Amino acid sequence: MHHTLPSGEEQSARHLLNLPKVDLHIHQEVSPRLDRVLAAREGRLPYDWMTWATRLMHDFPPGIPRLRQLASVFPADPGLDALPDNFIARLEDLLEEAAMQGAILVEVRFGGETMLLPDYLDLFQEAERRVQIRYPHLHAEAIAVLLLNRYEPERLEQIVQACLSQAAHGLRGLDFLYEPYHEEAEWEMARSIAQRAIDVGLGITIHAGEFSAANLAAVATLPGVSRIGHAVFATSDQYLLDLLRARQITVECCLSCNVILGAVPSLQDHPIRRLVAQGIPVVLGTDDPVQLSTNIGQEYRLAHALGFSQQELTEITRHALSVAFTTPERRCHLLTLLETSLSSHQFHER
Ligand SMILES: [Zn+2]
Repeated sequence: MHHTLPSGEEQSARHLLNLPKVDLHIHQEVSPRLDRVLAAREGRLPYDWMTWATRLMHDFPPGIPRLRQLASVFPADPGLDALPDNFIARLEDLLEEAAMQGAILVEVRFGGETMLLPDYLDLFQEAERRVQIRYPHLHAEAIAVLLLNRYEPERLEQIVQACLSQAAHGLRGLDFLYEPYHEEAEWEMARSIAQRAIDVGLGITIHAGEFSAANLAAVATLPGVSRIGHAVFATSDQYLLDLLRARQITVECCLSCNVILGAVPSLQDHPIRRLVAQGIPVVLGTDDPVQLSTNIGQEYRLAHALGFSQQELTEITRHALSVAFTTPERRCHLLTLLETSLSSHQFHER
């Protein structure tokens, strides 16, 4: 029987697909994700996010005006998420989508008031178990996004306490997002919450530096901060680059997100390679993959298009495992899994 050898490009695409991946920046996107699940169940098409993103880029100037449009369309009734079956199904959809692209670890960001639901971590772990039946390599961790100035002080304290107590039940980290997002914010409250969080073993990451350099220096010196989401504006100031390098803070790069929201003028202008050249570690993330029509495989392909070789992408995956918010046992297991998978697939430099 005659087999046609795949062309170089196809071979490269297949190697990229097989490459083990980690997504360290993905939001749960309740309504958009639920819409995908319900659409499949009802045999209809899901909401057309591709058209939405095209309009977003056409109708709104880059930066904050586009950011404000995220999570503003509700194609599925968020109330339906109260049904445990729906909650599990949408997380299964999120994890399976990543697993199909070769993800071995996905760190899911829960936001809003999900953290006040008594059993959400159980439902999350059930979704992970279900996906592992089909994709045994897939692992998932939960982190909580705290919108620090979204709540009255008592409400915020209630959410913080819920998160701290969930550290014993599988919550692995906190992500702070603080308004004003692109101007100097006041970080004193965040400092004390971060200290309480690291005392119970939670990791800390912060959304900053996406649309201006404001807050980057402040968040880089908060207790326990090992990662920053986006931080593309760090390259605007050598002092910030030196600070991130000195503290070895990892930048979570979400390429599609940064292009669509206009944090960078174009993919080619993304500073990910400059960050690496400056000795600042990077990882990849999808941010809001349903709304932005991406997945973790696509993000690795975009990084490859920016010149990262398969070996460099593997290094990104390895680093992501080393800075992921997970248990020491899991980290060890995942690092072994990565090495085993690499030697069995025998990735070729291209
Ligand atoms: Zn984000």
